[in-house]
Amino acid sequence: MKHRLLATLVLPLIASACTVAGTAPTLAGQTPGAAGAGIAHPELWPTPQWPQRRDPAVELRISQLIARMSIEEKVGQIVQADIGSVTPADVRTYHLGSILNGGNSAPGGDEFAPPEAWLALADAFYTASVDTRGGRVGIPIIWGTDAVHGHSNIVGATLFPHNIGLGAARDPDLIERIGRATALEIRATGMEWTFAPTVTVPQDFRWGRAYEGYSSDPALVASYVERMIRGLQGPPADGNMLAGPYVLASTKHFLADGGTFEGRDQGDARIPETVLRDVHGAPYVPAIEQGVASVMVSYSSWNGVKMTGNRSLLTDVLKTRMNFDGFIVSDWNGHGQVAGCTNTDCPQAVNAGLDMYMAPDSWRDLWHSLVGQVRSGVVPMARLDDAVRRILRQKMRLGLFEAGRPSARRYAGDWSLLGNADHRAIAREAVRESLVLLKHEGGVLPLRPGSHVLVAGDGADDIGRQSGGWTLTWQGTGVDNSRFPGATSIWGGINAAVRDAGGSTELSSEGNFTRRPDAAIVVFGETPYAEFQGDISSLQLRPELLGPYATMRRLQAQGIPVIAVMITGRPLFINPVLNMADAMVVAWLPGSEGGGIADLLVAGRDGRPRFDFTGQLPAAWPATARSDGPTLYPFGYGLRLTDRPARWTRLSEDAGVETADASTNWFANGRLASGWSLRIMDAGSSTRVTTLPAMGAAGRVRVTAVDHVAQESARQFTLAGGQVATIEISNETPIDLLRETNGDLMLAMTMRVDRRVSAPVMLGLACAGAACNVDVPLTGLTAAPIGEWITYTVPLKCFARRGANMGQILSPFRLHTTGAGQVSVGRVALASAAGQAIACP
Ligand code: BGC
Ligand code: BGC
Repeated sequence: MKHRLLATLVLPLIASACTVAGTAPTLAGQTPGAAGAGIAHPELWPTPQWPQRRDPAVELRISQLIARMSIEEKVGQIVQADIGSVTPADVRTYHLGSILNGGNSAPGGDEFAPPEAWLALADAFYTASVDTRGGRVGIPIIWGTDAVHGHSNIVGATLFPHNIGLGAARDPDLIERIGRATALEIRATGMEWTFAPTVTVPQDFRWGRAYEGYSSDPALVASYVERMIRGLQGPPADGNMLAGPYVLASTKHFLADGGTFEGRDQGDARIPETVLRDVHGAPYVPAIEQGVASVMVSYSSWNGVKMTGNRSLLTDVLKTRMNFDGFIVSDWNGHGQVAGCTNTDCPQAVNAGLDMYMAPDSWRDLWHSLVGQVRSGVVPMARLDDAVRRILRQKMRLGLFEAGRPSARRYAGDWSLLGNADHRAIAREAVRESLVLLKHEGGVLPLRPGSHVLVAGDGADDIGRQSGGWTLTWQGTGVDNSRFPGATSIWGGINAAVRDAGGSTELSSEGNFTRRPDAAIVVFGETPYAEFQGDISSLQLRPELLGPYATMRRLQAQGIPVIAVMITGRPLFINPVLNMADAMVVAWLPGSEGGGIADLLVAGRDGRPRFDFTGQLPAAWPATARSDGPTLYPFGYGLRLTDRPARWTRLSEDAGVETADASTNWFANGRLASGWSLRIMDAGSSTRVTTLPAMGAAGRVRVTAVDHVAQESARQFTLAGGQVATIEISNETPIDLLRETNGDLMLAMTMRVDRRVSAPVMLGLACAGAACNVDVPLTGLTAAPIGEWITYTVPLKCFARRGANMGQILSPFRLHTTGAGQVSVGRVALASAAGQAIACP
């Protein structure tokens, strides 16, 4: 990615203000390839027993294969490519041992491709891999997929609750059944490996991946791991897995991905060895005892050293001390973050103990560099052979060499397995067991037969929203209900249950009604996210997600009982809702079977509850938005319908953190600062962009996600031109930038012109009050080279000089033009001008 800072007509600019480049800082003093942060006491780590004995006949067969393989073929086995960047012909040429479909990759680039297309693609890759023409050994390939809450990349698959919800269920037996059902659905589409379960033990819920973990409690996580792996892989000692309904599993992300400082994704776990071992290491013990086929290494670091290059942990602890006999795979270009490495050059990782590189788009150059490094001895042949042997051993365990084409295997192409009724029943049971009742006043639950029920809130009828990240797309965004055949929204389930019990319903996301309801269910909470895009700075909902609060308040003021249902990947500060609602239910990220919620909220025809609440918090619930603040409800809390809690005492509604953080990053890393919205104005009407892709009201502005410093961290705007189109970042409440203006701060915008804009582009600023908006021409942008990221700056003083009311800013960034073209925006922030002379456009 090219990065260029330009002094445009709009501005001279200083380097310090523009640290927008995407490279991770390297740690001073760390020598590439060094062991890094070493384990001081490997002898104090546990020694689980690997459940499979080495079969001499299998070992001999592997040795014979290895003896026939060229260096190129061996290196191919340890490199994994993404289907978005590799073809079957490449697999044959480079002898690749594995492929994956990343969160945004699919056959023909179509996220919503039918299952037939996935299976056909699996056949194509397999056929290329086993081609023995030209003396190739022809090792069958394995396909890894993120089936992390069901076979979640496939349209029509059963979507189970994300792991955080399963943690509330406290039901290891259910977990095994989920594993089994997921394996079957994977097998229908011809893959043989899932990057699951995530066995992280999240400690700070600001982390965007916290929902991928079952619990903050290592013992609870450990109690699930064994059963999930058994469900996916079958009994640990059995071979020939493909004859049964099984796939290879992978526990991730090793180690302490959930222990990073401030809950930062891909961050650094600054913790002692004892915590590393006893908290984060605990789930790996049952995983190894179940013979988990692979372990995925975390992007993160332990005390400043990236795990992917940590020989002490990968080799000395995991393989040697803990007897792990499967293979270690890296995370998506994770090896590139090891000190001294790039995505395409990293002998350090295999030398540290990595067995397979996940090199989605970097595989070709990485393959070339590894072949050279084996030839020159930088990568010892013995290490390469060991990595290949570990991979082949798992392929043998699958029975892959005898299994034939994916479509010829048992279960393949049986589409009745996708979204199968039995699987959906398990998912619905999981939803029921995962719901946690935090408050229940006045016996409002369950809703009585014959009631008139209003269902409100913007999350009530949105299956994508209730399913969270890793759902059809990586971020789980851009998927409407039509993408979920056979699934049920929360509203859908309530509507059916209430009517079945002789009642009636109304759906209105704003909470309007035509007939006064006996009770209202208001669904609110988080919108989908994955990985770093979900990191937050405090434990609270973004202000733009608080709309349902007003709805609840209004209904409550009219004396209508309110049942609040929260969609969330984590415990957040919600005291205002707890004060307001008569009942409060945490639904986590329930997935495709929204009917499970109605099962608990709505009574049967006889007026009796059909099920009781049994869910218990998988992590403590906070009393404020501070991650180190006091607890409101402890780990394990959860009411039953029969519980009669003491009279409600009003909770403080002070979040304990500064709410309107006059953030200096309005948009960065794919996220808007808390309280800010991205809006597009098209033919006079304004649309808030909540999911991507998005379209302006008149269809003349289209917004999509594009890569910048990280995947999908920028927004691309395609303008049809002809009339004024506006792109703005704005707030409902004006903010005060007087201090910043006096302090000579500048507005810094990192943008890229993808297609020249056919008319001048203006940069404006909007403030409260009459005639207060001002514009400056962004001539630099109009003339910018195509396809290059450039940071433009405008001193705030320039807006002030033109009469903007800097104490009352509603929008610090408002681009408008009548031109047609395409522009991407990567970052909008405040930057320091560090004593530079102020030059205004
Ligand atoms: C891929 C994901 C991957 C992510 C890593 C995305 O483009 O689709 O699978 O996890 O990049 O940053
Ligand atoms: C994620 C992994 C995932 C991989 C493949 C990475 O970005 O961290 O959890 O398995 O992508 O999609």
